[in-house]
This record gives sequence, C-alpha cells and structure tokens, in this order.
Amino acid sequence: MAITGGCHCGAIRYEAEGEALTHALCHCSDCRRSAGAPMVGWTMYPKDAVTVTKGTLKAYASSEHGRRHFCPDCGTGLFYTNLKMLPGIIDIQSATYDDPEAVPARAHIQVAERIGWMEHAHELPAFERYPPRK
Ligand SMILES: [Zn+2]
Ligand SMILES: [Zn+2]
Repeated sequence: MAITGGCHCGAIRYEAEGEALTHALCHCSDCRRSAGAPMVGWTMYPKDAVTVTKGTLKAYASSEHGRRHFCPDCGTGLFYTNLKMLPGIIDIQSATYDDPEAVPARAHIQVAERIGWMEHAHELPAFERYPPRK
C-alpha cells in the first residue's frame, strides 16, 4: 500500500511505500511548539520507504540531533528525523496524508509532557461545525 501526502500549499509532495511501523500521537513540548498544536500525529517508516516526489524541504534543528523538515513556502511540518535516536527512520506527520484515515493512531506518547486538559479532551462538548449552527 502506498501512502501519498503533502503540505498545505502543494509545493511538497511525498510517497510512502509499505506499512507504517507505528502511528503515535506525540504530546512532547518540542512537537507542540513546532506545530503550534496540542499534539502531533506521527507515522514511522524505514527511511528508504519514503520519497519526496515534488519540491524541496527545509530542515530545522529542534534539538541536538532532531531535525524537523517542513515546506519553506507554507510552513507545514512534514517529517522528523533523528540520526542518533532513530537511525534509518523517518517520521511523517500523519495529518499531511491525502487520506488521514489510512493508518489509525495506535498510541499516545510522551504523555509526561502532555498539557493537563488534553487527557480528557475527547470528553469536551463537540460541534459538527464552528461556529455552531442551529
Ligand atoms: Zn507548502
Ligand atoms: Zn514529540
């Protein structure tokens, strides 16, 4: 099964071959600050399984060995690599899939750094649209 995806503006496109090794929702503060979101979904692949088919990414060193690869035009975060901690691995931000339903999330990780209210976020009132319509 091949996954396709890309950034918001369309300048970057990628393909991932085969099964994702895992899909985790990360609550670490680096992910949160980098994405500007309360958590980030990551699917893990062997590095060789992922090909950038359009455009050129820019990389940001978010820690000593961690690199966050994003679209230089629209800023969408796409990949994470860490040659020291995760050699041979590339993580894809799963919400950039063309079909984000394709690989369901399997775990929450780094919950030691989770924002307190995120633990029960799924229990909040839910509205089909915002602002709510009658
Ligand atoms: Zn873009
Ligand atoms: Zn993280």
